[in-house]
Amino acid sequence: MSDFLSVKEYEAIAKRLSYPTQAFIDGEFTAAASGRTMRSINPATGSVIAELASCGREDVDRAVKIARRTFENGVWSKKHPSERKEIILAFTALLREHLIELAVLESIDSGKPLRACLTGDVPGSIACLEWHAEYADKSYGSISPSGDSAVGMIVKEPAGVVACVLPWNFPLLMMAWKLGPALSEGNSVIIKPASATSLTALKLAELAAEAGIPEGALAVLPGPGPEVGEALGLHPDVDVLSFTGSTEVGRKFLEYSARSNLKRIVLELGGKSPFVILDDITDFAYVAQQAVSAAFWNMGENCTQNSRIIVPEKSKDAFTEAFLAELSTWKTGNPLDPANSLGALVNKTQYDTVLNYIEKGKAEGAQVLTGGQPLHIGQGLFIEPTVFGEVTSTQTIAREEIFGPVTSIMAVSSNEEAIALANDTNYGLQATLFTNNLALAHRCAKALRAGTISVNVYCEGDDSTPFGGYKQSGFGGKDKGRESHSQYVETKTIFMNIEN
Ligand code: NAP
Ligand code: MG
Repeated sequence: MSDFLSVKEYEAIAKRLSYPTQAFIDGEFTAAASGRTMRSINPATGSVIAELASCGREDVDRAVKIARRTFENGVWSKKHPSERKEIILAFTALLREHLIELAVLESIDSGKPLRACLTGDVPGSIACLEWHAEYADKSYGSISPSGDSAVGMIVKEPAGVVACVLPWNFPLLMMAWKLGPALSEGNSVIIKPASATSLTALKLAELAAEAGIPEGALAVLPGPGPEVGEALGLHPDVDVLSFTGSTEVGRKFLEYSARSNLKRIVLELGGKSPFVILDDITDFAYVAQQAVSAAFWNMGENCTQNSRIIVPEKSKDAFTEAFLAELSTWKTGNPLDPANSLGALVNKTQYDTVLNYIEKGKAEGAQVLTGGQPLHIGQGLFIEPTVFGEVTSTQTIAREEIFGPVTSIMAVSSNEEAIALANDTNYGLQATLFTNNLALAHRCAKALRAGTISVNVYCEGDDSTPFGGYKQSGFGGKDKGRESHSQYVETKTIFMNIEN
C-alpha cells in the first residue's frame, strides 16, 4: 500500500481536477452545434461530475471535413515518420506528467478502482501509445519478386480519415489501442468516446494539442451512439471505422458501411471466455488467484472476462475452496480508496442488467456460492462479486455475456469435455488454459477457438501481440501489435516496367 496516497488525498485531487467539457474539433474546444449537453456521472456516488457537449450529425460533418482537409494538406500524413514519432512521444511524456490526474479522472467517471487505473489503465495506455509511436519509422512495405523486367513496389499509405467508436469499460486503454497505430501511420483520427466515460478522451485531446499534434489530426466528439456513432458509420468520407463494443452494436457498423461508402470496418466485440483447468492440476492457490483476477478484474466489465470456469469434477471442491478464499481478499467499495479492488458498475443500465442475470441464474437452478446481491454503499452502483456453482451449458448465465462481477464454475469429467465446453459458445475472444503437461498445453491451445489463448496465466498478451476475436467476438482486423497497423493503411502496388 505504501506506493499509494491516502483516500483523502485522492479525493482532494479529484476536487482539483481540470479537464475540458466541450468537443474537440479543429484544435479547439467547442460546444455542440445544437448547443445540447449531456451529464457525466460518477457511478460510485451518483453525483454529476460535469455537463459535456453532446454532439450530433452536424458536428460529425464538420469534424470529418476538417480531418479530410488535414489529411490532404499533409501536415500530419506527410510528415516524416520519425517526426511523427517524436511528437507522439512528446505527447506520451506529457501524459506521464499527468498520470495521477488521469487515473483519478478515469476512476470517478467510470467507477473503476483507482488502484487499477494507477497501475494498469493509465500506464498501460501510455505504454501502448509509445509502442506504436516507436513503430512509426519502422513500418514499411516491400518489393515483389517480379523478375528483371519490372519493379513491383508494395507501398503502405495512411488510409485517410479514421473514426474510432469506443466502449466505457477501458475508456483510455481502448482509445490508446486504436489511436496509437492510427496516428502513428499518419491518419486523421476522430474519436467517439462512450457517453458514460468521455472525460479522459477530452483530457487526452487537450494534452495532444499541447504536445504538438496538429489541429485536425485528432478530434473528440462526445455524444450519443445512435447519433454520433451512426453518423460516423454512415459518413461517405470516413475511410476506416474501428469499433470496440457489444456484438449487437458492432453488427450495425457493417450495415452502415454497406449503406454508405464500403468503408473498412474493424470490430472488437464481446466474449464469454473460458478459464480451463486440465486434470493434471493439483495445486490451486496460484490458479485461484488468476481465476479471480480473470473473473473480477474491472468488476467483470471486461471483454475477456473469464465467466466460465471449467474444472475437473474431481478437483471442483478443492478449486472452489481456494477460489472463494482468494476472492474474500478482494474488497469492494469507494473506487478512490486504494484498498479496494472492486468499484462501482458504470451506470444504472449495466447495474440493472447484471442484477437481472443474477436473478436468472438463481431461477434457472444455478447455486449462489457467494454474493448475489447489490451492495448498498451510499448512492453508488455496487454489486457483490458473485460466484455460481452447479452451472450447466444451457443456462443463460453460461451462454450470454453478463459484463459484470458474476462468474460460473462448471464441472467436467475429462479434458476432452473441457475443451468442447470451452468452445461451446458463439464468442471466441480469449481463453485461459492451466496445465503442467507441455504436449497437452500445445494441443489444447490449438484446439481452443479464440483469438488469444493464455497458458498458465490470465492475460491478453502484451503491446506486441495482436488482440481480436474469432467467431462473433470480432471482425476485420486486430488491435495491438504490428498487425493493428494494417487496419489503418492502404496497400498500393506500384508496378514499374524497367525493360525499356
Ligand atoms: P456498446 O453499447 O456497444 O457501445 C459501444 C459504443 O458504441 C459506444 O460509444 C456507444 O455510444 C456506441 N453506440 C451505441 N449505439 C450505437 C449505434 N446505434 N450506432 C453507433 N454507435 C453506437 O458497448 P458498451 O456497452 O460500451 O461496451 C461493452 C461491450 O464492449 C461488451 O460487449 C464488451 O465485451 C465489448 N468490449 C470488447 C472489447 C474487445 O476488445 N473485444 C473491449 C472492451 C469491450 P454510447 O456510449 O453513447 O451508447
Ligand atoms: Mg461517467
